[in-house]
Amino acid sequence: MRTVVVKVGTSTLTAGGTRLNRRRMLEIAQQIVHVREQDVRVALVSSGAMAAGRERLGIERPNPRAPLPHKQMLAAVGQSYLMALWEQVFGMFEVHVAQVLLTRADLSDRRRYLNARETLRTILDHHIVPIINENDAVTTEEIRVGDNDNLSALVTNVLGAELLLILSDIEGLYTADPRRDKNATLIQEVAVIDDRIRALAGGSGSLGVGGMATKIQAAELVTRAGATMIIAHGARPNVIVDAIAGVAVGTRFLPAVSPLESRKRWILAERPNGAFVADDGAVRALRNGKSLLPVGVREVIGQFERGEFVAVRDLQGREVARGITRYSAHDAARILGKRSDQIVKTLGYSYAPMLIHADDLVLL
Ligand code: GLU
Repeated sequence: MRTVVVKVGTSTLTAGGTRLNRRRMLEIAQQIVHVREQDVRVALVSSGAMAAGRERLGIERPNPRAPLPHKQMLAAVGQSYLMALWEQVFGMFEVHVAQVLLTRADLSDRRRYLNARETLRTILDHHIVPIINENDAVTTEEIRVGDNDNLSALVTNVLGAELLLILSDIEGLYTADPRRDKNATLIQEVAVIDDRIRALAGGSGSLGVGGMATKIQAAELVTRAGATMIIAHGARPNVIVDAIAGVAVGTRFLPAVSPLESRKRWILAERPNGAFVADDGAVRALRNGKSLLPVGVREVIGQFERGEFVAVRDLQGREVARGITRYSAHDAARILGKRSDQIVKTLGYSYAPMLIHADDLVLL
């Protein structure tokens, strides 16, 4: 099934005003419900917590010089209000939503990365729309992503989604700043992000945090992982439905590599921290695209945590594959040779029925 991430910026949610625009939110929900009916799984990255906080507290104008704790207070007030509104508009279509608040730390640490991914996938598997934002209320400079363009790119890569659609108050990337230069034209497709493209990204100027620069950063992250990114105007009628259907809207950044190639490079880029020694049957299963199950593993070598890179060796000691392990060396040693339905009985819990999922495995 296709998976898509849609990011809506504050300026889109407020439709250029200072309050959250209910009608705009309803339109977005309606479109997401529509594409879901075509078997596309959608994760929504929603900004607007601070704007919602200002609305709730009756603060008219944003104060960019306010101290960080003040902004965090606004986000804390606004986040629950923002979610209440999303619940309301998705509720009209009898669609459930789930709030997921992330920080950079959640996505860079391997174990937490796996947890975030499994949670998001489970939410999507249950036909619930995850609504993601940065955990603004508690994040400090060091651990925050800082803007939802980059956050949505990270989410796209965590989910292995094929498309990130960024809705903004601008049509897309222009050859010059369209507010200043009337000869500026929209660039419809970017095949390679080079210095020329980066130079086109000017400043922001809207209510949100990101500008074109953070959108280009997001495009680099996403396209390098083998996905497409589109920047389009959030006010364009049917923009979500059309972008997902492949209609030309805004600016489209093409994948730099195939998703498989990108995954492979990622998994092969680092030295494995240990190894599983697999029996012949397990090696054959891997070559047929299957996952590595504990039952086919004879030995665990080295020390590693859940989420780390691990080699798979055959009984002759040859490395046949490499992948990301779902279990630490300690846990794996306790379940090796056992059937997957015995994992819970042995460990008291189970992360997954396999040691390495086929999606996380590269054959050598
Ligand atoms: N997390 C911020 C908010 O919800 C928005 C960050 C951004 O728009 O880039 O207010």
